[in-house]
Amino acid sequence: MSSIIELKNIEKHFEDGKNTRVKVLRNINLDIKEGEIVAVVGESGCGKTTLGKLIVDIHPPTEGNIQYLGREISSLDKKSYKDYRLGVQMVHQDSFAALNPNKTIFQSLSAPLLKHKIVKTKAEALELISKYMEDVELAPVEQFLYKYPHQLSGGQRQRILLARALLVKPKLIVADEPVSMVDASLRISLLDLMAKMNKLYGISFVYITHDLATARYIANNGRVVVMYLGNIVEVNNINDAIQNPKHPYFKALLKAVPVADPTQKGMISQLPLKSMEIPNLKNLAKGCKFNPRCIYATELCESKEPELRELNGSLVACHYAESILGGNEHDKSGC
Ligand code: SF4
Repeated sequence: MSSIIELKNIEKHFEDGKNTRVKVLRNINLDIKEGEIVAVVGESGCGKTTLGKLIVDIHPPTEGNIQYLGREISSLDKKSYKDYRLGVQMVHQDSFAALNPNKTIFQSLSAPLLKHKIVKTKAEALELISKYMEDVELAPVEQFLYKYPHQLSGGQRQRILLARALLVKPKLIVADEPVSMVDASLRISLLDLMAKMNKLYGISFVYITHDLATARYIANNGRVVVMYLGNIVEVNNINDAIQNPKHPYFKALLKAVPVADPTQKGMISQLPLKSMEIPNLKNLAKGCKFNPRCIYATELCESKEPELRELNGSLVACHYAESILGGNEHDKSGC
């Protein structure tokens, strides 16, 4: 499978207004292949939304480069850059903020089609929009097209956003927490819809979430990318990753998923972490950034940052992944 997007040695820093540089992403290398679903998971502040915004060029990287179909996006000519912007779409978490409150759904959806000359007339726009509205199961379309965003439910607005992304025939959709503001009863149907679009049109998805259950649901047979404080710490097939987590942070994340079993009540207090506090990005630890919270940390972890390396077909950034995976105690002196 060829790559749609490749992120190479990406760093993203922001100024916090007091001349302090906050390193939100560090040393990110990742490729998204044709037709695959990749779930990006991690706690708030781990950089997953920033990563999504870099993929669609809302933010440029501070260092490194991003390639679309093998070509660096910063050096694309006008036409190729437009192809990239149409080819890589984003669906945002807040569907209300993503739609113009003063425009009907038809006005919002037809404007980019006319602007980018994908259609020539409003009648053509109506035909195309109706097709994709039916695809996202908003039918009969007349019931939705001439309404304003506030007249629709959160689930319906999220389907409209998906239809808007589909209209320009993308190769990749970055979906940033697309179901987190939707009623629990509607989440599965939205995830099913994205999986259907993946199968029907071969569209790749980057599904950004803090919720491992929905990540596993949509990326079943796809990959998971686990992020911690701006770094990728594990990449693997999602089912293998969940059965055999290699990074201690991912192990803790999995333990934190609530279990509907009264005999396991109170397990959350036994999370394999030294601390529940998420460190401040402005004041990161030396060496492995997870070491202040890691129950396996040694002196080596405090001085040397582990690289993302291959292990049994996956990628993991931990000095001791082999011994942790095998359940063996390693020498905590770091020697
Ligand atoms: Fe824990 Fe050390 Fe591995 Fe970091 S490198 S995750 S601190 S064992």
